[in-house]
Amino acid sequence: MLLAPEQLYFHGLITKSAGHRGRVQSAISDMNLRTDPTAPQRRRIGTQLLRWYDENQRTLPWRGERDPYRVWVSEIMLQQTRVNAVKDHYRRFLERFPTVQELARAKPAAVLASWSGLGYYRRARALHDSARLVARSGAFPRSAQEWQQLPGIGRYTAAAIASIAFGERSAVVDGNVERVLARMFGASTKDSWELAGELLNAERPGDFNQAMMELGATVCLPHAPLCHACPVAEHCMTRGTVAKAPLPQRKKREVGYELLRQGDSIHLVKRPATASLMPNMWELPSSRVDRKKRALLRVRHSITTTDYRVNVYAGSAGKAMRPGRWVRISQVLELPLTGLTRKILRALQII
Ligand code: SF4
Repeated sequence: MLLAPEQLYFHGLITKSAGHRGRVQSAISDMNLRTDPTAPQRRRIGTQLLRWYDENQRTLPWRGERDPYRVWVSEIMLQQTRVNAVKDHYRRFLERFPTVQELARAKPAAVLASWSGLGYYRRARALHDSARLVARSGAFPRSAQEWQQLPGIGRYTAAAIASIAFGERSAVVDGNVERVLARMFGASTKDSWELAGELLNAERPGDFNQAMMELGATVCLPHAPLCHACPVAEHCMTRGTVAKAPLPQRKKREVGYELLRQGDSIHLVKRPATASLMPNMWELPSSRVDRKKRALLRVRHSITTTDYRVNVYAGSAGKAMRPGRWVRISQVLELPLTGLTRKILRALQII
């Protein structure tokens, strides 16, 4: 049974009072309406979505890529990271490590240095560990099940790589796909993975998966879906009337760093190996925040759910006796810098 919100209203199943949009989803759930797509509908959704994708997909460096190593790198970089932040890193990383063998042979610090600025560095370590396993075995995994055996690869990433690189009929569900499915089918009797698997186009599974993600990223937006531009609106149960996702609570912090220069070198310190964030990465020495002191630079920086106000002060070389080391500016980029350190050094035109 598929009813549009206006039909629900017409049938008296919901009331069109203030805030009714946000309550449609719970109304659907409460009534346990079965909104699973029928077989003809599934075929039509596949055709419409793929046609739309062929005409409207964004041009991205990994678009059309079928090489498993390149697909894999793009999928790992895209985990919890915006597309725009990934584009340049993806190109640079593949220039530095064009094959899985070259990545496997690299030193951990070199891999982290290339990842610097992308955040969630655990991904880089797991990618490196996995590259070593793949290089040693002499072949890429093929099925999603095999990909999932590698460190850092979960169900979503495994299905994405297997479908895009090898054409395996494995559906993906990420946050975007989940939102699209919830909006389209309301209270389905099935979970998102099952629904996505039923909708998956058997001839072009990789493209279909990317089309679903593209729809979620560019049309079925979290806070204001563009239903007028949606290629599958005719099948959509809610047409964007599902309650908006609450914005995550963000914390605010103010921090200070010191820039110490000596000739053509700057002083950097290594974060502890036990740090929960960015272990073993290099950064400027931290400093007390002093509002009376003139800062060389003030920048804003966000890490996960915290927004930082960052003050960078000129430091005195005498303090450099603490742990850390002097690094030639020409060699700074060979170290795995934190994203914030890279941002500061760029803003100060040091790198
Ligand atoms: S019609 Fe609107 S809410 Fe439904 S899938 Fe399309 S964009 Fe999303």
